[in-house]
Amino acid sequence: MESIKVSLSQDQMPQKWYNIQADLKTPLDPPLHPGTGQPLTPPDLTPIFPMALIEQEVSQERYIAIPDEVLQVYAQWRPTPLMRARRLEQALGTPAKIYFKNESVSPAGSHKPNTAVPQAFYNMKSGIKRIATETGAGQWGSAMSLATNYFGLRCSVYMVRVSYDQKPYRKSMINTWGAEIFASPSQQTNAGRAALAADPNSPGSLGLAISEAVEDAATHADTNYALGSVLNHVCLHQTIIGEEAIKQMQIAGDKPDVVIGCIGGGSNFAGIAFPFLREKINGLDLRVLAVEPASCPSVTKGVFAYDFGDTAHLAPIIKMHTLGHTFMPPGIHAGGLRYHGMAPLVSRVAADGLIEAVAVHQLDCFAAGLLFARTEGIIPAPESTHAIQAAVAEALKAKEEGKERVILFNLSGHGHFDMSAYDAYLAGQLTNYDYPQAMVDQALAQLPQIGLASSRM
Ligand SMILES: *Cc1c(COP(=O)(O)O)cnc(C)c1O
Repeated sequence: MESIKVSLSQDQMPQKWYNIQADLKTPLDPPLHPGTGQPLTPPDLTPIFPMALIEQEVSQERYIAIPDEVLQVYAQWRPTPLMRARRLEQALGTPAKIYFKNESVSPAGSHKPNTAVPQAFYNMKSGIKRIATETGAGQWGSAMSLATNYFGLRCSVYMVRVSYDQKPYRKSMINTWGAEIFASPSQQTNAGRAALAADPNSPGSLGLAISEAVEDAATHADTNYALGSVLNHVCLHQTIIGEEAIKQMQIAGDKPDVVIGCIGGGSNFAGIAFPFLREKINGLDLRVLAVEPASCPSVTKGVFAYDFGDTAHLAPIIKMHTLGHTFMPPGIHAGGLRYHGMAPLVSRVAADGLIEAVAVHQLDCFAAGLLFARTEGIIPAPESTHAIQAAVAEALKAKEEGKERVILFNLSGHGHFDMSAYDAYLAGQLTNYDYPQAMVDQALAQLPQIGLASSRM
């Protein structure tokens, strides 16, 4: 038999997360208080985050030890396999070798439990009893509902109304793991009640659901808030993906020429890419490619500037690639990856020229996703099809050039709860959508005026 899988044993699991802040050429700009515009201090954050996570957010240590209790839970599904996509290679007729890291094997079906588990752990350690969080498409809400079980916490999820109605099985999953779920806007919070008073049929938005979860956490002493992407500590926790992949590529006897991940808020990309970027900073020759949807092109069309993290201006102002916090993602787009901003760490490495970014169209992504499902068997999450599309494009370029190139991408999750998006694709109901530059410019006029220079990439 030909070898197509590299598995690590439980005791080969990396015991440290990698903090790329230690190796940045340009340090991150400080997050600012949404009310005062002054740099945030830890006391601004303690009402909603435990101190251990606040410390990780600003840490300059290169490595942070993963607590034993977290490693023990990771072992329920980690290390995840590194797969060689031989059948996909054959279908493409490419001389390139395509590897993928399979994060779809977690109980929630994506990479998100990699951070949900430590976040639940540190909250439990600090005496917190309940987590309040938001979810858009449902993946983060599922991951947090799963993770809180391992540490005896309760969990309340505010799910954007339109997704709550469209994806009933996400709610079933969240309830099965014992969490409570509210369609947002809800009657639970002032933010929700105000939105319902203004429009009883409000479809909700991610920005509003964040406002509800933050308000819930800030007004209950035993409750904290948790975010599933964007923040530095989330990117940190995800680096277990890349640390495992480095070991596995060595065992496979190959060195990637290009490492690829899709970007929504940036966390799964950070997870696979940052450990490889450490090697690149230390002289290894490789390309690192972030793939975003053409309908929500924060890195390729946005500006690198200070912006609000949410619509209600409750979340910190952060320096990131942004389309403006008033950005409205087009409803015709089937996948996730719809946040207006990008993780400050991913934005920084893009601005420093360490990574490349491309925007791709959803019809090409679904076509690549279908090819992947029909060759490798796994039905990818619509988000993950962006990474697959870019990997396929790289493999076809290698074929054209007659080069044996080594491609590695992150399969961030499976699409078992996104079958309606596949139905829409197969029925020919999806179209491509380029977010117009005029709308970008309009939204950018709404950026906070804090007198700090912003620069177009
Ligand atoms: C949430 C999610 C993403 C996008 O979030 P990132 O923080 O950019 O990783 C991508 N893929 C899957 C499967 C997800 O659940």
